[in-house]
Amino acid sequence: MDISPETPWDTTPDLSARIVTAIARLASVMRAGMWAASTAEQLNPAQAEIVQLLHRRARGMRLSWLAQQLSISTASASDSVAALVSKGYVRKTRAADDGRATALLLTPEGEQLAGRLEGALDFADDAVSALPHALQVALLTGLFKTIAELQKTERFPELRVCLSCRHFEPNKFPGADAPHHCALVGAPLPIAFLRIDCAEHEPADPTAAQRNWQIFA
Ligand code: SF4
Repeated sequence: MDISPETPWDTTPDLSARIVTAIARLASVMRAGMWAASTAEQLNPAQAEIVQLLHRRARGMRLSWLAQQLSISTASASDSVAALVSKGYVRKTRAADDGRATALLLTPEGEQLAGRLEGALDFADDAVSALPHALQVALLTGLFKTIAELQKTERFPELRVCLSCRHFEPNKFPGADAPHHCALVGAPLPIAFLRIDCAEHEPADPTAAQRNWQIFA
């Protein structure tokens, strides 16, 4: 079939552009789902995100870290944290690494709230779970690699991901189906097992983390 310049085929955006559009649309749909759950809990979206970011963190986190994760100013993060403290979901404590600094933790009520908010994205989880396992692995790999590319430009906030964890041993078994290894649990890590928000994560030396991301990208 002849395709003239006026046909829709020539105006189809690049594959990369359509993937970015699809990710953006997915993010919008999931944000809407999270907003509905936040509203039901009488929280604004920033407050709900802070609760999720502090979920299952044994060590208190700094206000500046929260602001960086949310891409908002420290003053805005401070307002949201103050509201959560007054609602009894967040408490302040001394930072373990600096007794003069303040760290933030969820209260038991805050942990329960985080558990309820987690369910807000079940609809998206159901959709992904319906895909064949191999496609889920391919999707996860592609997303990790995209994040790795973004890490090179420092446009992605810190994650509790295996690649930036001091327990991660990259390519411990070269050529194996599961070449990577978690020294904490003593288990091989096929790509399908790589974690993106691990409660046991401990930050690696920045040079080692950067090397892991670059190898993965
Ligand atoms: S599974 Fe958790 S503890 Fe193990 S390497 Fe990954 S992030 Fe670190």
